[in-house]
Amino acid sequence: MAQKTIPVAEPSLGKEELEKVVKALESGWISSKGEYIIEFEKGFAGYCGCEYGVATSNGTTALHLALSALGVKKGDEVLVPTLTFISTANAVAYTGAKPVFVDSHPRYWCMDPEKLRKKITEKTKAVIPVHLYGHPCDMDPIKEITEEHDLCIVEDAAEAHGAEYKGRKVGSFSDISCFSFYGNKIITTGEGGMCLTDDRELMEKMRILRDHGMDPGKKYWHDVIGFNYRMTNLQAAVGVAQLEKLDSFVEKKREIAALYNSLLQDSNVKLPPEEDWAKNVYWMYSILSEKRDHLIEKLREKGIESRPFFPPIHQQPCHLRREKMPVAERLSMNGLNLPSSVNLTEEEIKEIAAVILGKIT
Ligand SMILES: *Cc1c(COP(=O)(O)O)cnc(C)c1O
Repeated sequence: MAQKTIPVAEPSLGKEELEKVVKALESGWISSKGEYIIEFEKGFAGYCGCEYGVATSNGTTALHLALSALGVKKGDEVLVPTLTFISTANAVAYTGAKPVFVDSHPRYWCMDPEKLRKKITEKTKAVIPVHLYGHPCDMDPIKEITEEHDLCIVEDAAEAHGAEYKGRKVGSFSDISCFSFYGNKIITTGEGGMCLTDDRELMEKMRILRDHGMDPGKKYWHDVIGFNYRMTNLQAAVGVAQLEKLDSFVEKKREIAALYNSLLQDSNVKLPPEEDWAKNVYWMYSILSEKRDHLIEKLREKGIESRPFFPPIHQQPCHLRREKMPVAERLSMNGLNLPSSVNLTEEEIKEIAAVILGKIT
């Protein structure tokens, strides 16, 4: 009997997305000009409490665009957590700057502000806090450090749409924040991303760099070398429909996490963090277990997909460093993302928990 696989992540798309995509197609505006782009930029920036949105082709180009607009270049150093998706560090490398890795906080897994402080040098230009798996970074100490040393902050909020730090939405704590709308993110446009900022000048710079560096007042005139990092109106049509559902998705993610937490509380796995100052949106419901690889195998046998944490970037061939980052290395050995899609049913969550508890063998 073919068994249904429960995926780690899956988009939730409906007739609202379909209707808007059809409208975009019928309008003829299928490239990167069109009403949905403007609506999505305004809507998403407003949702996060920011002034301006600049939509991009994906989350990685959003990060590169942000760093480029801030003038990050060869010879600079940019501090990034070692425990994140590779693209945070790659975007730094694209500018010619050097990513310098920071170990995780043992309790909430994001970059540890005290360890961040120790990595600052004369060359440090910017910090990229990543709100890992939906849990926000501790932004107050990070801001204190960056102000003291006159550094830029670029939040990588690709995994944390709607998450809050001390009651305020992530994405609103930095010079520029970056989001991804890849198919497995909390809201999706297929591929897609966005930069948010309150700074008009940075917004204008990003718009120019996004569009081949073209002078907005003089067609085919280019003062700077830019990129084509634009989002299409078709993607934005999906985005506008998804944005209307974002609050309900966040609520659903938190309900899923609450159910997992209650089912797994007496097990020997460690449950995901939610600090007093945090609203975790549980992009990926994540646990720690000494028997992580054994759990992956047991789940797989039952048709349940799960995923080990990211390998720390400082251990990966393309960004190899000799230093030790004991906290991130341990988290990466023991961390496991469980199915977290908003389409999950209560029965599926109970079944997954039962496998973890060893009640189904
Ligand atoms: C998904 C993700 C990105 C990159 O997004 P893409 O849209 O896939 O390019 C960047 N940073 C983090 C932390 C991510 O999870």
